Amino acid sequence: MNARDPDGEEADAPIFDAATFRLDRNEADLIDSARRFGARVLAPRAAQHDRDATFPLETFRDMHPEGLLAICIPEADGGLGASYRTYCLAAAELGRYCGATALSWNMHVSSTLWTGALADDLMMTVEERAEHNERRQLHYKRIVGDGAIYSQPFSEGGAAAAGTIAFGTEAKPVDGGFLVSGKKIFASLSGAADYYGVLCTERGEGEGASRRNTLYLAVPANAQGVSVVGDWDPLGMRGTVSRTLLMKDVFVPQDEMLMPRGVYFRAATSWPHMFLTLSPTYVGLAQAAYDFAVAYLRGELPGTPPVKRRMYPTKQIAVAEMHVMLEQTKALWFQAVSEARANPTKEQVLRAYAAQFTVMENANALAAKAIRTCGGQAMLKNLALERIYRDSRCGSLMLPWTAEICLDRIGRESLYETGEKDE
Ligand SMILES: Cc1cc2nc3c(=O)[nH]c(=O)nc-3n(C[C@H](O)[C@H](O)[C@H](O)COP(=O)(O)OP(=O)(O)OC[C@H]3O[C@@H](n4cnc5c(N)ncnc54)[C@H](O)[C@@H]3O)c2cc1C
Repeated sequence: MNARDPDGEEADAPIFDAATFRLDRNEADLIDSARRFGARVLAPRAAQHDRDATFPLETFRDMHPEGLLAICIPEADGGLGASYRTYCLAAAELGRYCGATALSWNMHVSSTLWTGALADDLMMTVEERAEHNERRQLHYKRIVGDGAIYSQPFSEGGAAAAGTIAFGTEAKPVDGGFLVSGKKIFASLSGAADYYGVLCTERGEGEGASRRNTLYLAVPANAQGVSVVGDWDPLGMRGTVSRTLLMKDVFVPQDEMLMPRGVYFRAATSWPHMFLTLSPTYVGLAQAAYDFAVAYLRGELPGTPPVKRRMYPTKQIAVAEMHVMLEQTKALWFQAVSEARANPTKEQVLRAYAAQFTVMENANALAAKAIRTCGGQAMLKNLALERIYRDSRCGSLMLPWTAEICLDRIGRESLYETGEKDE
């Protein structure tokens, strides 16, 4: 559905209408500007980055003057000060226009959200808080001033990214900092990021590996010992350029700590919605699949002949089913992102898993249904639906909350209270 935007141009209506979802004025304005940026900048570039599997660096450069790189940096530090929910809603708007750019933007923004609003909500000692507030200035200045790009390579190909064991990438404490060695797979923004926000295990001589000793460090991309290897030719989300990152005895100064010692572990255990931040992109893709089907069946999709297909009852039923699925997805997800906070109730955590599962599965189900309903011409590569279908397939594979892991946890945590056993 189209609406007229403040510049007088036809624009897509917001996914979440400000009045209906009771968004405040600031929140709605930020989300609106993300949507307009997505339509203007992301959409026309999406096909080429998808075809060539290239990173949309020029789009990230264009985000800088718009303030989008600093959307979650507190206003006092020069950012736009978006809350967790505002960010999620803005990211969903970008996801409509280019899944790969929105997902990559998520990796960058999460580095600021986790160290910003989320960290502000965590228990810290006075010393930890002072250390954290001082250190994050360094990162925020680089982003606000120079447009620096951060990423989040956590995955290692083992059980660590699912949160069950300590990261295999290790940080050895040395004078003034750490020597970091390890390998990260699927490192989105590889080769494009200025800093890799790496999770690793601090391990002194003779010490065992423990998740409690997880460090969150900004590893400068140009530091000695950092390399990006392998190719990137995946099914979808091709513009994320998620190649393999290798680190060999990389010296990382102490000031590059993104969180004080022990605080990442605290965040992961007491602020679980931090892992729901991969989902907004896929809410956008779900909306895009639906919008495509409606425009196509009405004979109004740009680049296609004005042939109407909406008069067939089977098409109407299919669109009705898509509409119901989209509304269910939006309602559950909006509730989950609205109640994100430290120490959520068990019910809120279960709802967050359910929202992640629903978004990731439904985005791809909606895209598949849009292709079946619109027909053969709709899946040609010159139209966006084929890319939306491939991009949306990736959501349920993303750790730490894959679709399988979400189901696994919902089942277990519904049936067992903490510490409960059968024998
Ligand atoms: C487009 C894209 C971009 C990505 N970008 C990044 C990034 O920037 N940073 C990053 O860190 N990662 C990123 N990832 C990586 C992602 O989170 C996974 O690490 C990646 O998909 C590799 O998974 P795997 O096959 O090694 O999973 P495996 O660990 O081999 O798991 C395979 C499957 O087994 C199941 N499984 C695994 N562990 C458990 C468990 N404990 N309990 C129950 N079931 C389990 C899961 O369903 C999982 O899908 C990206 C992935 C994609 C697709």
